[in-house]
Order: sequence, then C-alpha cells, then structure tokens
Amino acid sequence: MVERFEVALNTPAGRLTTAIDVPTGLIPITAIVPVTRRLGEEAAQLEAQQAVEAGQTISCKMGCAACCRMLVPLSPPEAFSLREYVEQLPSDRRTLLLNRLSDTKDRLTQADLWSQLSDVAEASKPMPDEALDPLNRSYYALRIPCPYLEEEMCSIYEARPAACRELLVTSPAELCQDLVQNPVTPLPVSMRIGSILGLVWGTLTNSPPRLIPLPMALEWAERHKEESRQTWPGSSLLDQVLDNMWRFLSQAFQRK
Ligand code: SF4
Repeated sequence: MVERFEVALNTPAGRLTTAIDVPTGLIPITAIVPVTRRLGEEAAQLEAQQAVEAGQTISCKMGCAACCRMLVPLSPPEAFSLREYVEQLPSDRRTLLLNRLSDTKDRLTQADLWSQLSDVAEASKPMPDEALDPLNRSYYALRIPCPYLEEEMCSIYEARPAACRELLVTSPAELCQDLVQNPVTPLPVSMRIGSILGLVWGTLTNSPPRLIPLPMALEWAERHKEESRQTWPGSSLLDQVLDNMWRFLSQAFQRK
C-alpha cells in the first residue's frame, strides 16, 4: 500500500509541483532515496531551464566525464542504496566493479589518502570545508577515474549519487579538464540532496551528519549494514526530507 502526496516547493528557479508515492508501512531509509533524488533533479531541471531561457548553454553532455575524477561525497542513505544496487548486479558485473574499487583503494593507499578519507567517513563531528578542501585537491590531482566509470560513461547511471546529478556547468566544456586551475561556472544548486539525506539520517540515528567518499561507500555501508536495517513510517521519512528541503530553499532565497 502506498500513499500519494502532492508536493509543492518554491525554488529560486520556479515552482516545483509533483506527486510522490510513499509506502504506508515501515520502510528502510533506502526506500526514500529515489524520490528524494527525483525532487533534486526536478529542481535542477528548473535551474537548467531558467539558464537556457536566459541565453546560457549547459555544457554537460553524455560522454563527457571530466568531472568523474573528482571526489564524490555520499550521504549514508546513498551509500546503503549503492550497496543494495551493486549486490543485485549479475556476479560478473559485481566482480568487475569490486576489482576496480580494490584497484582504486590501492592507488589511494599508495598516495596516503585512503586513511584520511576513512577519517572523513567515520568522523564523529562534521568536517569543515577548510579541512576537506586540501583532501579534495589531493584526490583530484591523482586524476583517478571514478571506479564506476566505463569508457567515459557512468556504469551505474540510475544509481549514481546525488552529487553527480547536481553538477551542471554553463562554462565551456574544455575548462572542466582542469577544475582546479580553471574557473568553471556551475548552475546554482538550491537543494543539496546528499546533505539533506545526511541530515535526515543524522536526526534518525542521533549521529553527526557525515559524507562518505564514493570509493569507500560500499565498505562503509557493509560496516554499518545493521543500521541500514532499521525502519520508520514512510510518511515520517518524507516529512523529514521535505523539512530539510524547505530549510535549504529558504537559505537559497536568502542568498539571491
Ligand atoms: S558515479 Fe557515475 S557520474 Fe558519478 S563520478 Fe562515478 S562515473 Fe561519474
């Protein structure tokens, strides 16, 4: 049984209205991830539409994966979702991905980054941006392709993290070849879905909001799999997601 909710959100790029079906019973946190990401994508579409109407061009296109060498952060619910997704893949696909993740771990260990990234994933309090910035830069300097990237295409497209869905630029695509040196122009993101899911998870589990680096998301989710088995009423999870979205949107309006 599902219950339908009509959701309306005022975003800086326009009004978003949509219907969301949420199971009436108890559900795990992973069950709310797809609809949360969908709301984020619909908000991003409004931003993109507004930019195009203003004469700008969105440079991001299929086959361009320049930004897939950056460190992608995931919220705990997304890490659990990714683990579920990878677990249901055919075993040859799963093995291929796990081998690639293992190679990435080796490279990050050699570069002395793996343990620093683990500290981020298990931090007992939120890491400030100033602490994360040098880590992001060191990671990007290695230019390691995302372990889920195949022939410059995302191999987990429908399961990719919210952070991957949110980065759209209007600056020329060539500039994305060096995101540290070049001034790229990203579209504004009024709702950071990874942060919103992280805040909801933090409230539900009384833990600090955390973001988990993508290369270690499966390992992190495996270590915390007992927590992922908890369930909550679907409507209560949706309420918490929407509360956090309103908070982000109100901050986005203040910035305008
Ligand atoms: S998950 Fe997909 S979109 Fe995100 S960085 Fe990796 S390959 Fe790119």
